[in-house]
Amino acid sequence: MQVLDKEFELYITHEEILNKVKALAEELNKDYNGKCPIMVCILNGAFIFAADLVREVNFPVEIGFMKYSSYVGLDTVGTVDKVADLAQDVKGRDIIVVEDIIDTGYTMERILCDFKEKGAASVKVACLLQKPKKLITNIKVDYCALDIKNEFIVGYGLDYNGHGRNLKDIYILSPDDND
Ligand code: 5GP
Ligand code: MG
Repeated sequence: MQVLDKEFELYITHEEILNKVKALAEELNKDYNGKCPIMVCILNGAFIFAADLVREVNFPVEIGFMKYSSYVGLDTVGTVDKVADLAQDVKGRDIIVVEDIIDTGYTMERILCDFKEKGAASVKVACLLQKPKKLITNIKVDYCALDIKNEFIVGYGLDYNGHGRNLKDIYILSPDDND
């Protein structure tokens, strides 16, 4: 699969992703029974994951959106910018941060820090993917659908320079293109 100048290989099928998303939703259904959290989708990458996840939970829920940016091309640039803030007041609310992928953890560390200042009652992290070997921050990932290798991936919302988000499956950078 060609995305811009790079070659990618099929890594996780859409069917497998949906099964893992359902399993994650089951965990949330147990933990949020009787509650009404705000599920905060971190744009852009988490929009497809969030859309599938919110339709699998069976508790009342509000949806919110925030936008952070840190990646250019294949690498995180280290600095994390908040590009758009949440519209809802989170004071006293239970928050589930819905993120596509945790790599170094810098983005999530910044997001959690922002929520601390806003006075939320609780803040939990639900991510689709995690690259556990690359985590260099001290953040707690409460729910994670899948652990993956330390390679660059695209599809199911995740992009390579703005492209590939609409792919149904998840693709991994071909070894030949990994330079
Ligand atoms: P971190 O701040 O944890 O290093 O990086 C998190 C952000 O970088 C994620 O929200 C995601 O947008 C982006 N990211 C990390 N790894 C990948 C990857 O393999 N592929 C893509 N497309 N984005 C990634
Ligand atoms: Mg992201």
